[in-house]
This record gives sequence, C-alpha cells and structure tokens, in this order.
Amino acid sequence: MQWETVIGLEVHVQLATRSKIFSGASTAFGAEPNTQACAVDLGLPGVLPVLNEQAVAMAVQFGLAVHADIPEVSVFDRKNYFYPDLPKGYQTSQMYHPIVGAGDVEITLDDESTKRIRIHHAHLEEDAGKSLHEDFHGMTGIDLNRAGTPLLEIVSEPDMRSAKEAAAYLKAIHSIVTYLGISDGNMAEGSMRCDVNVSVRPKGQEAFGTRAEIKNVNSFRFVERAIAFEVERQIELIEDGGKVVQETRLFDPERDETRSMRTKEEANDYRYFPCPDLLPVVLDQAYLDHLRSQLPELPADKRARFQTSLGLSAYDAHVLSASREMAEFFEEVHRVCGDAKQAANWVQGELSGALNRENLSIQNSPVSAKQLGELISRVLDDTINGKAAKQVFQALWNGQGDSADAIIDAKGLKQVTDTGAIEAMIDQVIADSPAQVAQYRDSEPEKRGKMIGYFVGQVMKASRGTANPQQVNGLLKEKLDALL
Ligand code: ADP
Ligand code: MG
Repeated sequence: MQWETVIGLEVHVQLATRSKIFSGASTAFGAEPNTQACAVDLGLPGVLPVLNEQAVAMAVQFGLAVHADIPEVSVFDRKNYFYPDLPKGYQTSQMYHPIVGAGDVEITLDDESTKRIRIHHAHLEEDAGKSLHEDFHGMTGIDLNRAGTPLLEIVSEPDMRSAKEAAAYLKAIHSIVTYLGISDGNMAEGSMRCDVNVSVRPKGQEAFGTRAEIKNVNSFRFVERAIAFEVERQIELIEDGGKVVQETRLFDPERDETRSMRTKEEANDYRYFPCPDLLPVVLDQAYLDHLRSQLPELPADKRARFQTSLGLSAYDAHVLSASREMAEFFEEVHRVCGDAKQAANWVQGELSGALNRENLSIQNSPVSAKQLGELISRVLDDTINGKAAKQVFQALWNGQGDSADAIIDAKGLKQVTDTGAIEAMIDQVIADSPAQVAQYRDSEPEKRGKMIGYFVGQVMKASRGTANPQQVNGLLKEKLDALL
C-alpha cells in the first residue's frame, strides 16, 4: 500500500510590539519573573483591556503580504479554560471573525520548484504565562511576564504533503514576518512556534485520514523529525489493523518521538463568546491602503527581481532572499561592486563559509557589505587576482585593515601584470628546474598541459601569489614550447 501524508500547520507568531496586546506592560524577553505582568494581564477584577493598535497594524500587514482578504469587521472572543498560567480563566482570541481571512504563501522546495500553500485565516490572541518546573521540587512556579504578549496565529489549509514541504512553509512564514519586521522570529526564545497536524491516507483516496496534532514544535528541524516519526507511527498503526485517534501529542526531541497528551474526548469545551470588554475592530479602506503603502519588498518579489533583473539563478535568488538581513547585505555588496554574480558568489561562498565556521549570523559579520563590495571591485578591475582576494578577505575578517585597498597596499598584493616582470620570473623558474623541463620536453604532447601546473605553481610562488595567473599560463606555454 502506498501512503500519502497530509499536513496542516497552526503557526503562532509573537508580534514585536513594545507593549502587550491589551495593556501597557512591556513585552521584553528575559526579565525577572513576574515583573512585567500588570493588573490587566492578570485579569484582576475591574480592569478593562485596551487594544494595542500596533498589533492590529502588524496582523493586517501580514494579511496583505499573503494576499489575504481583510474583513472590515473582526471580533475578539473569550476562550474559557483553566490553566495555572492563565489567571484570568480565559484567553482573549478571535474564534468566529478573525482579522485576516483566506490567503496564500509560495514555498520553495529543494529542487527550486515552488508550490502555493493556502492560508485558511490568521487571528490575533494573547499569549499565556509560563510554567516553571525545574526550580520547585514537586511544585510548579508560574512566570506571567509572557501573559498578554500579542500572538498572530496563522492557520494553513491541509495543503502540505511531506515534512520537507512543512519545513519550507514554516521558513516562508518566518521570512515574511521578519521581512515585515512584525516579529523577531526567534524560535529558540519562543517567538515563533507551531502546532503540526498530521494524517495519512492511501494514495489516490480523496477523503483525509484522522489527524494527530503535535503541539508547540519550536524549530524547523523538529518539525521535520516530528512529522517523520508521526507518519511512520500512523502507517504502522493502520497496517496492523488499528485506527488513528484524533488527539494532541507532544514531540520529545531527545527520544525523537511523539507521545499522546490528550484525546479529543478529553478536549475542553471552550464556550467561546464575544468579549464584552472589547469593541469589534472596524477597518476602513483608507487604513488598509495606508498599511499597504508601507509594505517593504517581500521575499517572493525580491527573489523574482534577483532572477529577472540581476540574472541570478533560481538557487542563488532563493538563498539570498531567504532572510531580510542576507538580502540587504547582498544588495549593498552588489551596489558597491556592480557585479551581481560576483556579489552572489562571494556572499554565499567565502563569507557564508566563514560565518558558518564561527557560528555567526550575517548581522554580526566582521566584514561589512561595503568592505566586501570594495574587495570584489579590486578583483574586477584586475588590481588583485583571485588568490590574493582570499588573503585580503581573511585580513578583513581578522580586522587587520579597514579596507581592501589598505590591505592590498600593506601586504603588497597588487597583481603583477607587467609582462616583462612575469617573463623574468618565468625565465628564472625554467633555469632552476632543468629536470622538470626535460621531463616536459620528453613527454607526450597531450600530457604537457597537465605538467605545466608545476611551473605555474613555482612562478606564482616566486611572485608571492601576485602574478596574473592567465598571463603566467600563456607566457609559460610559449616559453616552454619554444624549448621543444
Ligand atoms: P480545529 O478547529 O479542530 O482546530 P481545523 O479544521 O481548524 O481544526 O484545523 C486545524 C489545522 O489542522 C489546520 O491547519 C488544518 O489545515 C489542519 N488539518 C485539518 N484536517 C487535517 C487532516 N485530516 N490532516 C492534516 N491536517 C489537517
Ligand atoms: Mg486549533
């Protein structure tokens, strides 16, 4: 039997507002426990929530970025349940009239093919507090700093068909929210986390199978691993004559497995009802137009422009547009050196390699975009050759000079293109290598091309890497062949 995987994601994004969604308390991460939850966040009697306009604007901008309908009216509802990290006894969310309607996102797969994933809707809600288990033996501590942090929950249609597609979708969402600047997207700090709904069905069958929901997965890699485990579990279960039950599961990264938390029968009846403390949100066309005019160029548009007007490959365009910081860095390098292909090669090659080795993000690159652009310019105008360029890059990286030009001067790396000087070096190398010259002369003509490498190496060494390699090659061949 052939099986097909069906996946739908509910992504929670913490919005980067400075204050909470219904109060003026700070949303900053990492403060001492319970120093950033005010009376409104705790739902003390007599307080009234006031909606944060910035959260509304951010949600709408997301909606516009994913080509969604933005309904004129959206409404906040109370979702009633008890949990220690929710002192109010309900979460303020949007059940029936979300702020963002149906839209779609384009994802890019490993083979550079693309696919559209539909978004069902996105709604605003407040985050809950956090339970702390480690420091309290046999008890639970509660930190309510996170209570009231604005969340945008983005619900996809069940359009994904593999773990790779799910990860690509999550990356696309991550890239959109960080381009928009509506979230820092920091998954390690919980700024973005997702519930993964997974089911399987026999290939060719139209009806969906019963799904399991894996809660709170907080990295791209965990999404893929959780799905891989879950798909295998469900197929095995069905093939052994069992049935998948609709339930909530938890992914355990240490054991690489999912475990049941609660089944649908135990699910809460949340008794949603419109929050009487908050008016419906009414957005007019002028407001939407204003927000639309503020949108930055988005990842999909940037990718398309990198391909069509800069002539980059689909792969380069995808990699360079994946994060806003990467795209901005690349564009600055390109602006300085004027050659898109060279800029792309250096950013993805030498620079990304060095950043990866030292586990640095591009925002913290020791070499600035301007410095890299100037370095590339010196290669393009033949001031230095490729080998010297790598030395200059290393020196910039290590802070041994402020600019490519300064390092080229200080280290004497200027390329030697003077034919006379190169010829003199070649003559010296030939005079110093009688055995190799004899070997060259005595070998088959088709093998000589390879043997010339030895002489090129010697001349480059004599020039301390500064001779123009094309000239060295050409002149060497002439001089050696003259000896035949
Ligand atoms: P609920 O209202 O119970 O949360 P929804 O219908 O809103 O359920 O779906 C929640 C998420 O689960 C959505 O992202 C949706 O795409 C996904 N989903 C729904 N049915 C399936 C299924 N059979 N297999 C995989 N994902 C599914
Ligand atoms: Mg749900």
